[in-house]
Amino acid sequence: MRIDNTEDLIIRLKSKEFSNIFITTHHKPDGDAMGSTLGLWHILQKMGLKATVITPTDYSENLSWLPGNNEVIDFTINPEKVKQLLKESDLIFCLDFNKLSRINELGELVSQSNTPSVLIDHHQDPDKFYKYAYWNNESSSTCELVYEFGLKAFGKNVFTADAVNCLYTGLMTDTGNFQYVNTKPQTLRIGADLIELGAKHTLIHERIYDVFSINRSRLFGYCLYEKLEVLEDCRTALIYLNREELQRFQVVTGDTEGLVNFGLGLKDIVLSVLIIDRIEKVKMSFRSKGNFAVNKYAEKYFSGGGHINAAGGASEDSLENVVSKFKSTIKEYKSELQKV
Ligand code: 5GP
Ligand code: MN
Repeated sequence: MRIDNTEDLIIRLKSKEFSNIFITTHHKPDGDAMGSTLGLWHILQKMGLKATVITPTDYSENLSWLPGNNEVIDFTINPEKVKQLLKESDLIFCLDFNKLSRINELGELVSQSNTPSVLIDHHQDPDKFYKYAYWNNESSSTCELVYEFGLKAFGKNVFTADAVNCLYTGLMTDTGNFQYVNTKPQTLRIGADLIELGAKHTLIHERIYDVFSINRSRLFGYCLYEKLEVLEDCRTALIYLNREELQRFQVVTGDTEGLVNFGLGLKDIVLSVLIIDRIEKVKMSFRSKGNFAVNKYAEKYFSGGGHINAAGGASEDSLENVVSKFKSTIKEYKSELQKV
């Protein structure tokens, strides 16, 4: 399914009708979120349009090499500046999320603002807060959509080397290196286009995946050796971490990314869950195989959502209660999980 009502927006962008464009993305932005916002930022700059990228929170250190990173403003560090920018803005791009609740307090400010917004996103069921949308839930990533949108609006010359390095990053991370079911022929065609336009794919891979701290490797080792639980009758793997453990390994933003995938690597396992007791709330990551719609489960029990095979959720309850709620509710899906 797709939504595209950007014809009029493109005309307005080309005639430089906007002078202060606000670009934002979701809480704890990942490779697709930062790749798409910065990719779009480079495209708009090339078109002579002034834009600023604002994140609701910080993000992983392995994304800090992305060209344009130094110009990004973090709302949690500089809320007053962000409020001022939002007031002055005449267009808001919302990338890689489609519910304003996903961007915390910044979401409330965006919803109160009269400035028109543009949604570019690939998640299910967008809320209708936007004026314009370039949305497709069959796209691998928001980076794929930003590429298509940029091409449609301005043609190939708009893609600088900086822009394509940003966009390739999200394509690569959201597809699990072109592994997941969201990797379509179109995804690979766009990947090829980006490489032709100058994306340094090997270097991007190294900068994203080969830069972790020794603490992070030790945390992974600890989780696999001591924390990995298997719920055999539900074909489920589970890892959960309390605050003391997070402190012990000096876990910083981004350190636990990828940990949930290890559970899925086990033979016969079709659902993997990572539960982390973050200071604000208990955060959950879900990954599944085949037709087990983990986003529906996350939505039903943990006010979450996402994609069919990759979703997240959160809870204000204690870690202990969240783990036991997960263990009891997942039993309802035992026969479904057996059939995957
Ligand atoms: P991750 O496990 O990597 O944090 O997230 C996996 C997917 O689930 C991403 O596509 C993300 O957008 C979505 N997701 C993660 N956490 C939440 C959440 O709390 N609510 C919703 N609606 N989606 C989430
Ligand atoms: Mn994405």
